[in-house]
This record gives sequence, C-alpha cells and structure tokens, in this order.
Amino acid sequence: MALPPRVVERLRQVVGPRAVTDPEVVASYTTDWTGRFVGHSPLMVRPRTTDEVAGIVTACRELELALVPQGGNTGLVGGGVPLRGEVVLSLTGLKDLEAVDDRAGQVTAGAGVALADLQQSASAAGWSYGVDIASRDSATVGGMIATNAGGLRVLRYGDTRAQVMGLEAVLGTGAVLSHLGGLVKDNTGYHWPGLVCGSEGTLAVVTAARLRLVPPMPYRTVALVAFAAVDSALDAAGLLRRALPSLEACELVLAPGVDLVCSATGMHPPFPVRHPVFLLIEVADRTDPTGSTAEAVETIGGVLDVAVATEPARRADLWRYREAHTEAINTLGAPHKLDVTLPLGALAEFVDTVPATVAAAVPTARTWLFGHVGDGNIHVNVTGLSPDDYRVDDVVLRLAAGLGGSISAEHGIGTAKKRWLSLSRSPTELAAFRSLKHALDPDNVLNPNVLLDSAGG
Ligand SMILES: Cc1cc2nc3c(=O)[nH]c(=O)nc-3n(C[C@H](O)[C@H](O)[C@H](O)COP(=O)(O)OP(=O)(O)OC[C@H]3O[C@@H](n4cnc5c(N)ncnc54)[C@H](O)[C@@H]3O)c2cc1C
Repeated sequence: MALPPRVVERLRQVVGPRAVTDPEVVASYTTDWTGRFVGHSPLMVRPRTTDEVAGIVTACRELELALVPQGGNTGLVGGGVPLRGEVVLSLTGLKDLEAVDDRAGQVTAGAGVALADLQQSASAAGWSYGVDIASRDSATVGGMIATNAGGLRVLRYGDTRAQVMGLEAVLGTGAVLSHLGGLVKDNTGYHWPGLVCGSEGTLAVVTAARLRLVPPMPYRTVALVAFAAVDSALDAAGLLRRALPSLEACELVLAPGVDLVCSATGMHPPFPVRHPVFLLIEVADRTDPTGSTAEAVETIGGVLDVAVATEPARRADLWRYREAHTEAINTLGAPHKLDVTLPLGALAEFVDTVPATVAAAVPTARTWLFGHVGDGNIHVNVTGLSPDDYRVDDVVLRLAAGLGGSISAEHGIGTAKKRWLSLSRSPTELAAFRSLKHALDPDNVLNPNVLLDSAGG
C-alpha cells in the first residue's frame, strides 16, 4: 500500500531523494537471499550518516511506521526483509572505513562496509579480521553485528561479539548511543556491544563499530580428511584441536553434499573412492604448518584418505567442496535452513538421526548437512517442501533442543524461528528480553516482527 505523500515528504526532509518509492527499486530489497522469504514495502530509505539514521528512526516513531534495518541482505532467517510491509532502512550507504590504528590493532568501520572490504583494508595495513563467512562480498559490518555472525574461524578468534570493542548505534527512541573508544578494559557498567550483538535489529540500528584486528597468518595448509563415520570425524576434530594450536577451521561435510556440489559446479570428486564423511581443516601460522599438520593427521585413527593443499588455488579448490554447498543446495529450490548447535557429545547422534526424522515428517523432503563442526554447529538444510510448510522445522528444532542444543547457532531467530524460541529460552529470559526491547524501543519501531512477536510473545 502506498504511503500518504506527507509521510514520504517527512522522510525526504531527512534523506532527500534517498527515500525511494519506485516499486521496481523497492522490490529489490524485499526478497531474502534464499528466496524463501518474500515481503513487500512502500518505501526504502538509504541514509549516509548516523544523524540521518537518527532522523529516520525519529520520524518513523512519530509517524508510527515500522522499520526493517537491512545490510547486505544475506541473512538466512527472514529477519532483514519487510514481511509485513515495513519501511526498509538500508544501511549500505554508511561506508566510512577509517585508517587502521596500528598501536591498538583496531579499526573503526561504518555499518555498511562489506566484510570483504574490511578484510582487504585490514590486510593492506598488515592485519587480519578474525571473522570470515562465505557471504563476505555482501554481508556488512552492521548486519554481522546484528546477527553476531560466526563462520569459519570461530574456533580460533571467536564470534563477532568477540571482535567488537566499541559501538555506535541509534536506539528505537532515535537517540544516538556512541561508545567507540575501543578501550580493551572498560568496566563501567552495561556492555552495549555485547547487548546489541545478536539483537537482530530489534534494539538499535548499528551505524559504526570499533573492531579488533588480529595478526595475519601468511602460511596456510588445508586438508580434506575422509572418515567412515561421523563419530570418528568428531573424535579426530577433538584431537586436532589439541595437536594444532594454529587450527583455524574445522568443517564437516558428508558424501551426499559433496556429490551435489560436484554435479552443480562440474568439479571432480575429491578422491577416486566415494567416502561417507569428511573433515575440512585449515591450519594457519607464521611459518609453514604443512609438516605439523601431516604429523597430527597421521596420529589420528580412522582416516581413510587425505588431500593436502598449500598453494592458494589448490586450497580454494578444497574449500569449494564446503563453501559451494549453499549455492548447490539452492539449485534444488528455496531450502529451509535450520542452523543449530549441539553439545559435541550429542552431535553424531543428531547427524545420524536427523535425515530419518525429516523423512518421517515429510516424505518428499531431502536433508543436507554440513557445518562448523569444531564448535558444534551444524547447518541442516532441507529441500523438497514448500517455503511455508513448517513441519520439518518443528521436528528438527525439537530434536536439537531435546539433545541439549540450541535452535540457532549463528544465523539468529529472525522471523523463521521465533515460534520455537521458547525451546531455547526460559520464560524468565523471555520476560527480560521483552523488558529490554521496551526500554530501548518503546514504540516497537525496529524490526517489530523479528525475534519476539509484536505482541511481545
Ligand atoms: C552463502 C552464505 C554463507 C553464510 N555463511 C554464514 C556463516 O558462516 N556464519 C554466519 O554467522 N552467517 C552466515 N551467513 C548468514 C549471513 O551472511 C550473516 O547473518 C550476516 O551477518 C548478515 O549480514 P548482512 O549485512 O547481510 O545482514 P542482513 O541480511 O541485511 O540482515 C540480517 C539481520 O540483521 C539486521 N541488520 C542488518 N543491518 C543492521 C544494522 N546496521 N543495524 C541493526 N540491524 C541490522 C536485519 O534487520 C536482520 O535482522 C551466510 C549467508 C550466506 C548467503
């Protein structure tokens, strides 16, 4: 539904022509990356400064309009698209990236800076950024903070929350909260970055962040190691963590997913024989870790085959067996993406049980499993059912929670999982969530349909 001209005029007083009503332009902001969540909106606003963001939030509060903050729109739980006709607040215009502070090993970045640009800038200054995810070309600093993005290197450097040393954000009241000093020790009350990280745009709009950088590790070795069973791969992952302090990534892939990647991309299978389970590991250090990696792999039991790569192109080839899973699965239609985390003691049981559980719920459904197994995180992707059929989501999330896991490891709750939030959070926790939401966004302007129900449920 179109907005009254006076409303559009009020928003244009803040951002001028960057309040866009052209339906074709707005439509490009209303569907999520998977294609599963398709919304609609009368308007997209694209501020370039924190003051403009504050002006937009204030105006929407006065006009009783709901906003959906959006960064790179790579989120996978339907949290960044306007499913109920909200105004889209695109943060991609906040692109300031300051020079790296060498003494502190930190950098201040605008919310709209893409992860790949942040990584490139850190690298040019002789540093590295600790978080890496496959959507790096589009995912933004603001979106990664809002979702507390994890990814491939959590094992070594922690999640996004562990990188954020300071934050600037606009609360739902329109007030600007700025604490960008980057002090490593600063015990002066509540920790804003910790609170806003993972809040999925429901408490505040992130406009800039002070981020910790890590020393670069120029030598890298990647190994794809084959096993007969998930249990053996998980035992090996534990041993490798202990044997290789410079282990940076430890990912699990299974034969059906590797077959799909090969047929979707035209890649050859990794080994002449088809093995059921694989660990993809990356070890990164200041000196060549190939010898220590080979030694560590030799000490673990149950290894059926190993491929090792040190050259960047060959390393990228091995990584493709893991990273191309997402695009390969998407060729089968919009998947249900259920990103869960399990205690490591229950992970093998979960992986072995979930395909049959899914098939029992919906016989046409097909399960694809892969993930950041070093930290217990497994991505359950399900194809072969319609976007609004929630039977599979229900059985998978209940299975994960029943085994002591969490219904969201790193993608968040968004709109996709909010009806199951009580599986992972107690009534007391949910009541505290609602109090926080009310305190920072009293009129429910920011993402009212994400995480908690508008009604507060
Ligand atoms: C191929 C692929 C691989 C991926 N791999 C991983 C992975 O390994 N690990 C992982 O954690 N995620 C992964 N993701 C998911 C996604 O990339 C992350 O969730 C990412 O952090 C989202 O960033 P974004 O800028 O695209 O945010 P968006 O998708 O635009 O938004 C995500 C959420 O954040 C909110 N938001 C966005 N910007 C702001 C802001 N400035 N202030 C407040 N709220 C905001 C939105 O309202 C929404 O709720 C992957 C996605 C894809 C497509």
